[in-house]
Amino acid sequence: MIETEIKRISGSPTVKKTSDVVIIGGGLAGLCLSIQLAVSGYEVILLEKHEYPFHKVCGEYISMESWPFLTRLGLPLDQMNLPRINTVEISSPSGTLIKHRLDLGGFGISRYELDFRLSQLAKMSGVRLFENTRVTGVEFHGNEFNIKAGNEHFTGKLCAGSFGKRSNLDIKWNRPFIQKRHHGLNNYLGIKYHVRYPVEPGVIALHNFQNGYCGISSIENDKACLCYLSSAINLQHHDNDIKKMEAELLSKNPHLRKIFSEAEILFKEPEVISQISFEKKSLVENHVLMIGDAAGMITPLCGNGMSMAMHGSKIAASLMHQFLQGIYSRSEMESEYIKNWSKQFSSRMVMGRGVQSLFGDRFITNLFIGAIKPFPFLIDMLIKKTHGQPF
Ligand SMILES: Cc1cc2nc3c(=O)[nH]c(=O)nc-3n(C[C@H](O)[C@H](O)[C@H](O)COP(=O)(O)OP(=O)(O)OC[C@H]3O[C@@H](n4cnc5c(N)ncnc54)[C@H](O)[C@@H]3O)c2cc1C
Repeated sequence: MIETEIKRISGSPTVKKTSDVVIIGGGLAGLCLSIQLAVSGYEVILLEKHEYPFHKVCGEYISMESWPFLTRLGLPLDQMNLPRINTVEISSPSGTLIKHRLDLGGFGISRYELDFRLSQLAKMSGVRLFENTRVTGVEFHGNEFNIKAGNEHFTGKLCAGSFGKRSNLDIKWNRPFIQKRHHGLNNYLGIKYHVRYPVEPGVIALHNFQNGYCGISSIENDKACLCYLSSAINLQHHDNDIKKMEAELLSKNPHLRKIFSEAEILFKEPEVISQISFEKKSLVENHVLMIGDAAGMITPLCGNGMSMAMHGSKIAASLMHQFLQGIYSRSEMESEYIKNWSKQFSSRMVMGRGVQSLFGDRFITNLFIGAIKPFPFLIDMLIKKTHGQPF
């Protein structure tokens, strides 16, 4: 690793750090990519704007398709005593309930725990992890990336963008999904609490309300994750007051009324993110390979965005390896990435957008859940079309 002092700003040294690959954003996509590349012997720099461990808006239900991958990365899932989930319950805004067995199923773990453990694994694998490091600029010149984060500069032969749903870099690059006018599919809020609540073992519940849905399922240490997606308009209609929205809108669903009145909330304040978009995104920007939510976000209703982020990192790691070995040119690597990512995920994304549109309006959601209830094979089909196989 070469570290060269290049200049001084305000008396503090600015250090240029060089590597094979620079990864921007240490969520699941970035952490998993960094570990795979470091284990293959490459010099990897991972830049994360927060410090681990930290909470993140996410329903914290992981589809079993990711279990073998996480285990191979070195996470001892078998020994972590994590709740396994094999049944989904879906209620309409008026309270009609469908209960359905999940073929593949999943497990629960908080992002606080999962991302922290992966960050430890990354460091042990030799990844140079820079926390509290927010990237502000990326340039590609002469076959090399120059990445700026405050006073620090990083360079790499390759760069991955794993900075999540919406970042300062999306705005800086003026990505097309940022330019889209706000409408139903691109203006959502995500809100999360950890709670103590007697969730039925093995069950993930998804309770619908007007323009939103709220999930609850078990995570580690007998806690549950209570997380919902709501249109921004819902909040505006409730004086931008989250508690008021929960009491007056979410609680119209009798299942949510019970949860919100009986759950012991373990957070002082909810975790909140806004301006969530499910619009199509570009997979390569300025030669940066985009992975995870930065490449495209599937609606949380489908419950496998985390698996897609991890699977995407596997695709990127293999192609980056082939580039670094001289097997692919840069343009071949980029077009293979677009091809492989699209083959694996495009139809799921389209299906996810379709499903999302059925779970908005109170009337349509009531109608849809009432109509699908007698036909469990249709529910199986929807789940299959939005999920992948173990990888
Ligand atoms: C309400 C809601 C519920 C969900 N529930 C589920 C669920 O139950 N199951 C499931 O599988 N998926 C769920 N998802 C989706 C899932 O959370 C995401 O798909 C997953 O987190 C994507 O991982 P990622 O690594 O792409 O992004 P993230 O995990 O968001 O990581 C991105 C990282 O980049 C960092 N970052 C951003 N900008 C910069 C910068 N400029 N410099 C440095 N670092 C930066 C951030 O701090 C962050 O740590 C849900 C999503 C929402 C909104």
